[in-house]
Amino acid sequence: MTAATAEDQRARERVKLSIDRASAIFAEKNIRFTDLRRKVFEEIASTHASVGAYEVLDRLAKKGTRLAPISIYRALDALLEAGVVHRLESKNAYFACRQLHKPRTGKRPMFLSCEKCGAVQEVDGDEIFTAIDAAAHGAKFEPRVRFAEVSGTCHECAARRQS
Ligand SMILES: [Zn+2]
Ligand SMILES: [Zn+2]
Repeated sequence: MTAATAEDQRARERVKLSIDRASAIFAEKNIRFTDLRRKVFEEIASTHASVGAYEVLDRLAKKGTRLAPISIYRALDALLEAGVVHRLESKNAYFACRQLHKPRTGKRPMFLSCEKCGAVQEVDGDEIFTAIDAAAHGAKFEPRVRFAEVSGTCHECAARRQS
């Protein structure tokens, strides 16, 4: 097996594992993981960066599943609600939750989005949210912040720049 196919194999296994986890989360929340939701999730989980709704639409069309944009958006809403995908507001794009393999703590995540390669990482941002809540409450304001996005340069891109 060449290096490339071994990597493909690992990537496929990762996607399969994400689908299994997503399916378990849907079951736990009593939401149906329909065939369409699964297909949309698979497209999102198989990219390393984030993808837009129309890109998902195009990819599914190439595989023979032609859908109306509204169907994609409905599936995306269900995936967002279940918490198995997140939306990057700055790009209006979606990515699979990077924490599906971890026990869920209810902590709010911070998304680290690479400006060069588009990779998205997810880290615990709870301290930041606590600070935002405190500052907002100080102004008698009820904040509604569930995620934070930070753009910058990922580890791989930074290493590439230095070599
Ligand atoms: Zn997540
Ligand atoms: Zn990068």
